Amino acid sequence: MSHPDLMKWPPELSEAQLQALTLLATTYALSHGLNYLPVADVQPPAPTSAIHAPLALFPSPFPRNLFSLARRLQRAYNVLYARVALDEEFLDNVMGEEKGVGKVDQFTGQLWRRWKRLRDEGLTQDLHLGLFRSDYLMHAPRPEEPVTLKQVEFNTISSSFGSLSQKAAELHEYLYASTGYYGTSPVLKKENFPQNRTIAGLAEGLAEAHKAYNVPDARILFVVQGGERNVFDQRWLEYELLEKYSIHVVRQTMTQLLESAQVHPDNRTLHVTLPQGLLPDGANSVEISTVYLRAGYTPIDYPTSAHYDLRYLLESSRAIQCPSIQLQLAGGKKVQEVLTRPGVLESFLCDPGRWGAEVFTPEEVDEIRGSWMGMWGLNEDVPTGSAHDPRETSGVHKARESASNLVLKPQREGGGNNIYKDAIPSFLDNLPPEEREAWIAMELIAAPQGLENYLVRAGGGTDSTVKTEVVSELGIFGWALFGGPEKKIKEKEVGWLVRTKGKDSNEGGVAAGFSVLDSLILI
Ligand code: ADP
Ligand code: MG
Ligand code: MG
Repeated sequence: MSHPDLMKWPPELSEAQLQALTLLATTYALSHGLNYLPVADVQPPAPTSAIHAPLALFPSPFPRNLFSLARRLQRAYNVLYARVALDEEFLDNVMGEEKGVGKVDQFTGQLWRRWKRLRDEGLTQDLHLGLFRSDYLMHAPRPEEPVTLKQVEFNTISSSFGSLSQKAAELHEYLYASTGYYGTSPVLKKENFPQNRTIAGLAEGLAEAHKAYNVPDARILFVVQGGERNVFDQRWLEYELLEKYSIHVVRQTMTQLLESAQVHPDNRTLHVTLPQGLLPDGANSVEISTVYLRAGYTPIDYPTSAHYDLRYLLESSRAIQCPSIQLQLAGGKKVQEVLTRPGVLESFLCDPGRWGAEVFTPEEVDEIRGSWMGMWGLNEDVPTGSAHDPRETSGVHKARESASNLVLKPQREGGGNNIYKDAIPSFLDNLPPEEREAWIAMELIAAPQGLENYLVRAGGGTDSTVKTEVVSELGIFGWALFGGPEKKIKEKEVGWLVRTKGKDSNEGGVAAGFSVLDSLILI
């Protein structure tokens, strides 16, 4: 598949067809919970209205072979990140407060310090649950060459939009079933719409952890952000857990948990207190089997040091953490960069001395490496084409030299934190030398040009549907339950997500308002 084949999208629609499709799309979304809470200064505790999530009218074309590749890679990525999370020495060196990024990045340091304390007190977790999402863009630097698949990042905490991505795929299938998309493209036929069963897949991961905890009446705790607008994405998982597994969920913010969470001193069970009358038999607290964090990935979630101590408290209990601090640290951008250095990936995937029979083949390892762009740390010495100012590292020098093809990333999640292209040189001028260690440089992925889509945002009528040139980011979901004395890993690839953004926006991120939910049409 070469890059010109991907162009000519979406098919032409008449004004009447566009209006009809938009109406069908927004009403389907509202009927099926492909929704968001509206922006409001004060959210009532029980919302009275929802808006449809921002969405694309057409699925976006994606090469079938690259979609299969992304799904195939997920199993190795699940294992890779589970093993990184269990490698204490590696994480201390890369992310720790004494030797790694934690020295210069306070957020990383705060988390690492709580994890260190847990280790010193012999309270580390036995089993860890990861609900992962590996993100990719198509890479098409030259029109005459085949399009390849390149990883943007790997998320180990609060990987969102699993539920809404399934709803977006179902929306596009519905539009096809209902209208045939007015026969506007031969590519739009049933066998080209891949199934998306992410809700069941992610709920299965949570249910596996719950089962491993082995107290059927315990509940799963969803730790959520105050003022969260993306609640339906989370609720769909809650409904699935109740309907399919009879597992109840408790939703609390970190601030609420400061008051309501307790760890029993004798058996280290985690309990959350609920207001009187909400539980059967006069009980006022529930035991927690699994802590699922949809908060805690950004410093904003930790307004006081007590919030960091809450992470320590939750993790000092027997409840399985999704993710544990060490698994959150494993998802750091710095880890992603260190993995690209010679021999590091191999030590995690194909060293029989470490992993016995559980090694990956050289071909599988090559496929993983083949999905990466070049990366380096700003504090490092890397080969460069020319002499550099001795006050700078060669890593900084190389970032200046190649700024137009580069993004700089700090140790943050959730979008809006990166520095792109032209903004890089002046950013580097002002970056205190000691903070270089907190940043990685990554070559830009060259997404195919010329693709368009109709993007629909809530806001009134067809005015809110705009046809624009876009870039689509594929995410593959997986889960892994791992640890224990034998460091066993149970894992699965469970579904996918497409977020589509206007071409001129550097960032993606539906929650951050940069992109819309989308799905795929395989070509
Ligand atoms: P976050 O953890 O905040 O989501 P990401 O690494 O995913 O950080 O970066 C945010 C967005 O920036 C991505 O969704 C993508 O649109 C864009 N981006 C990140 N890295 C690259 C890259 N190497 N090439 C092109 N775009 C990128
Ligand atoms: Mg991202
Ligand atoms: Mg991320």
